[in-house]
Amino acid sequence: MKVGILDGYVDEPSCLGVPPYISPYPRYIWGMLKHLRADLCGYFTIDEFRKDGKVREKLSECDILIVIAGAVVPGKYLGGVPLSKRELPRVACGRMNILVGPLTLELTKNEREELHQFEIVEFPFEERLFELLCNIFHTDAEFDLNEFALRGAEVVRFHPEFPHVICEMETYRGCYWSKCSFCVERFQRFMMREPKCVLAEFERLYSLGVRHFRLGRQTDFLTYMADFNEDFPKPEPEKMRSFHEAIWRLCPEIKTLHLDNINPKTIAMHPEESRAVLKTIVRFQTAGNVAVFGMETADERVVRANNLAAMPEEVLFAVEMVNSLGRERGANGMPKFLPGLNFVTGLKGETKETYEKNYEFLNMLLERNLLLRRINIRQVKILPGTPMAEFGYKNVRKHKKYFKIFKRKVREYVDREMLRRILPLGTVLRDLRCEVRKGKVTFARQFGSYPLLVGIIGEYERNNYVNAKVIDYGMRSITAIEYPLDVNKAKLYQLEAIPGVGSRTAARIVANRPFKRVEDLKEVVGEEEFSKLKDFVCV
Ligand code: SF4
Repeated sequence: MKVGILDGYVDEPSCLGVPPYISPYPRYIWGMLKHLRADLCGYFTIDEFRKDGKVREKLSECDILIVIAGAVVPGKYLGGVPLSKRELPRVACGRMNILVGPLTLELTKNEREELHQFEIVEFPFEERLFELLCNIFHTDAEFDLNEFALRGAEVVRFHPEFPHVICEMETYRGCYWSKCSFCVERFQRFMMREPKCVLAEFERLYSLGVRHFRLGRQTDFLTYMADFNEDFPKPEPEKMRSFHEAIWRLCPEIKTLHLDNINPKTIAMHPEESRAVLKTIVRFQTAGNVAVFGMETADERVVRANNLAAMPEEVLFAVEMVNSLGRERGANGMPKFLPGLNFVTGLKGETKETYEKNYEFLNMLLERNLLLRRINIRQVKILPGTPMAEFGYKNVRKHKKYFKIFKRKVREYVDREMLRRILPLGTVLRDLRCEVRKGKVTFARQFGSYPLLVGIIGEYERNNYVNAKVIDYGMRSITAIEYPLDVNKAKLYQLEAIPGVGSRTAARIVANRPFKRVEDLKEVVGEEEFSKLKDFVCV
């Protein structure tokens, strides 16, 4: 029986699979299928499906097509466009089609009826999918997620972006808090993976050529392997240190090792142990790392009304702690480790004042010279089965205007100022992977958790890796110029983009090329212009 996988990408509170990320799901499913000795027909992404008739043809030959979908956290992506609900009927080209992933959480009764082409496997799907496949294959094989992870790791090689991919690694699922009114983590059964299993998966992926990893599939990295006998799980610094040491022992040439979520409540409840683990993170994970705190709101009334985990002063305490440990600049040009904040609007108890409090909180961070690498603001997305489902979109609709104003103010004033402080003019960012070209600008990012978008002046091929110097700021991105820029090869418009260098100077350089030494430029452009140029160029 021929089986294929179509990856429509996922984005959940604690799992990302939009390229260059590859989520654990296709890896687990591939492993299950290998375990069942299925005839594997291929793994393709939704972007390949859209672009390439041959991919569609190949998948239509499948007896079973497994479609993974669910960007339940709304976002904008540079690396791919997630499969939407509307697109689902079009991709159902196998003889039997199975839909898995967090998208199933969003389906209404009517939508389910309309999707008659699919066998819908409810989320979390792994055990249910395996049971279904066992029935189809007439076997009673045993479910073993760790075994599937190892056997399925090889699927990364079929990813169209390989080796330019980052593997989302799962350490545990579920949330010890699990009470927030809007969150889908309540649907996850708590499951902690043994470190030896996570490490074996690291080793396997590394042997296949993966060099970028994110410990992202957990709701709070600090509580991985924690002591759950306490009211609030207590981090285990020694265990976390050994875990990190083992990663580097097994995979000595990792290029990116980052994490995703940290619950600020853990830091507030167990400051000493948290500080020790945060120090380990700064030491063993790579620069540009971000601890994203799900703050959601700075209004205490909203925190209470929605059973959110942390009060604003607890978030402030966590922001201060990460800042005190991670601000130093790392090898790739970024600060080693900074916090990020998520805000969710439209929650119960929200008023106009909530937006003012949110903005005041961010302003206070600026005043205290605390850095935030990322501020994510979104309107709540209501999913069936969550306490927010009863309340509905009342406050989203009522406060639309305040949401827009708050978001614009944060982007224009807070984000831009944070960027200036995090990356002063002239900072050199290394290993920027070129992704998309628009006119004379190429958009590039480093690998990692929430990488910064960099518009590099110039036309670079996709997957070129470039070092670049910061020359300007957008709201959530920066403009940079290749560093060092070869004056003998640079385009006129690149030379013109160097701060303080006018079009006449740039034209003079081009007319007098080639130069043997940077100092030779002085004769052509004069002393003053040379002083502006010399820190940007080479020959
Ligand atoms: S703390 Fe709240 S928002 Fe965060 S994962 Fe847990 S339940 Fe979800």
